[in-house]
Amino acid sequence: MFNISRLNKYIIIIIFLSFSLSACRREEVSETKILFNTYCSITVWASQRGGEEAIRSAFERMGEVESKFNIHSETSPLYRFNREGGDIEDDEIANVVKEALEIAGKSKGAFDPSVYPLLEVWGIYGEGSGIPEEKQIEKALKKVGYDNISIENGRVYSAVEGLGIDLGGIAKGYAVDEGIKELKRAGIDSALIDAGGDIYALGSKNGREWRIGLQNPRGEGNMSVFKVSDRAVVTSGDYHRYFEEGGDRYHHIIDPQTGYPSEEVVSATVIGPKAMTADGWATAVMVMGVREGLEAIKEMEEYEVFMITSEGEAVSSQGLDKYGADMNLDLLHKLDE
Ligand code: AMP
Ligand code: MG
Repeated sequence: MFNISRLNKYIIIIIFLSFSLSACRREEVSETKILFNTYCSITVWASQRGGEEAIRSAFERMGEVESKFNIHSETSPLYRFNREGGDIEDDEIANVVKEALEIAGKSKGAFDPSVYPLLEVWGIYGEGSGIPEEKQIEKALKKVGYDNISIENGRVYSAVEGLGIDLGGIAKGYAVDEGIKELKRAGIDSALIDAGGDIYALGSKNGREWRIGLQNPRGEGNMSVFKVSDRAVVTSGDYHRYFEEGGDRYHHIIDPQTGYPSEEVVSATVIGPKAMTADGWATAVMVMGVREGLEAIKEMEEYEVFMITSEGEAVSSQGLDKYGADMNLDLLHKLDE
């Protein structure tokens, strides 16, 4: 038998305790991957091992959402629907389409998930193929109309031939919500997911609200910092994907009324409880412009908006103050000269 002296016993107990404490000690655990064609990072405050596992399952879930909603992937039900028509029988897609149609209705069609044919003629799905001819735009416009999308018992369908669905303006937000759900399931109560500007801040960071920097749409630096807890902060902008021709910028958010890229707003940030809803509205507000965008968000309980216009003005809804937005307006003066 070993004869452990009393002192040695205490040493062993102390070593054991410090090992278990270090296993539970909360630290910042972070990982970045490419999802939705952009950098997606997840940061959690947790024990190293618990944090890594939670992040892994959140990425796995977000990856599932990415493939299902990727209209270019043959395995996505949207891919087949956009080529052959028929029905989409998938509860998850039906739920996101339902939200998209709700935003489409409330934004009077500024947000429209049937904008697919217009995105095609503008080459948004490739590298951007230059300005299309007027008649191409007119032809595409005829196929756009969210009213032609129906949902019945989890089944999405359309009676109109040539109708296509693109959920690119809302699916990333949905993926972020699903990632957060997965983190919570793993016991995480403090986390930040940032999927290329679609952000959700869960809980607090060391007892303080999370600080979210808003990118300057025309250069380096942050325009503003929002302090949030349990909130999505989602930004749409004309600087993510675009081409320039004749000194003008043609970007990836198309106004379904004109068939041309939206113009008045260069960056729109929506803050609220759900990333999916905030994502849809950020895209909608880009198209609606300042006046209509502000009016629409006023009707959305718990959602606030911050916009930067092509004139270099910063505009926000009344309730934005509670997020302590701290503007750096000096950065604004060189917008679109
Ligand atoms: P976001 O970065 O969330 O603003 O989404 C931009 C994406 O939304 C584009 O790449 C298109 O896939 C899609 N989109 C473009 N214009 C519209 C629109 N008017 N309504 C709905 N989705 C759109
Ligand atoms: Mg969006």
